[in-house]
Amino acid sequence: MQINLSEKNALVTGGSQGIGAEICRTLAECGANVFVNYYSSKEKAEILAEEIRKEHKVNAVCGKANVADAKQVEQMFLQMDKELGRVDILVNNAGSESVTHVLDMEENEWDRVIGINLKGPFLCSQEAGRRMENKRGGVIINISSIHDAVPRKGLIHYCSAKAGLKMFSKCLSLELAEKNIRVASIAPGAIETNMNREEIEKFGKEKFEKWIPQGRIGNVADVANAVAFLASDLADYINGADLYIDGAYMNHTIQYDPRPKRETE
Ligand code: NAP
Repeated sequence: MQINLSEKNALVTGGSQGIGAEICRTLAECGANVFVNYYSSKEKAEILAEEIRKEHKVNAVCGKANVADAKQVEQMFLQMDKELGRVDILVNNAGSESVTHVLDMEENEWDRVIGINLKGPFLCSQEAGRRMENKRGGVIINISSIHDAVPRKGLIHYCSAKAGLKMFSKCLSLELAEKNIRVASIAPGAIETNMNREEIEKFGKEKFEKWIPQGRIGNVADVANAVAFLASDLADYINGADLYIDGAYMNHTIQYDPRPKRETE
């Protein structure tokens, strides 16, 4: 069984690095043409688009937009219409966080994090959905986080945004199913990228490996492979689902182990 996305066009927000870049590569490997959205990492996005064109023999273009800005999002989709054609797959991946005590958090920082992680997916899904309903349907995948369900100190804005995104995905699937548009939410655990590399170094990799029942930090391919599957026709009846990709991290809230030792241990 193979994942075949040939003749599909995908737009990945925050495709310039980390999980988003790997999603772009994987969708292209499955045959999709890719629009790589970036905000500040223009060079990385251009290099990635070139790599994809060369290695996977599909079309790849990139375009700048702040996903929290309606005008810029509209322009980005117009660019995609022109340079790549209709959108079949939208991956709302762009995200950002910052660790701040709730009592010290500036209003601007609250707005910034909610804007990128929650308003961005709304704006992009609206643009994509309007195009998909007039064509042959499509798929929208929102990259959430285990923090859509697990609260964390210092991340009240991020956790609130991702919890909102999880409900946004469910409402969106309900409204768009009749248009042949499927929606899914993917919630990664700890995946090593620029977003959390500092934190992993600060606490030490071994600590994370102990906290995560599967014994390892996730990698970008763990997430990208699931995106490719959900975007394909193999997942045709999966609609409105949440998929947690975390090595059972979020289930590990009780840290002590009361089980008796087994003879084999
Ligand atoms: P990353 O390496 O920091 O990449 C973040 C991406 O988001 C970058 O491509 C960045 O683009 C883009 N971005 C930031 N602000 C933007 C804006 N205003 N408009 C458009 N794009 C913007 O982070 P990552 O770890 O790959 O995270 C990707 C997604 O996975 C995020 O939604 C994150 O919340 C989620 N996630 C990550 C983890 C993890 O452990 N890493 C865990 C759970 C969920 P530029 O560089 O071009 O500015």
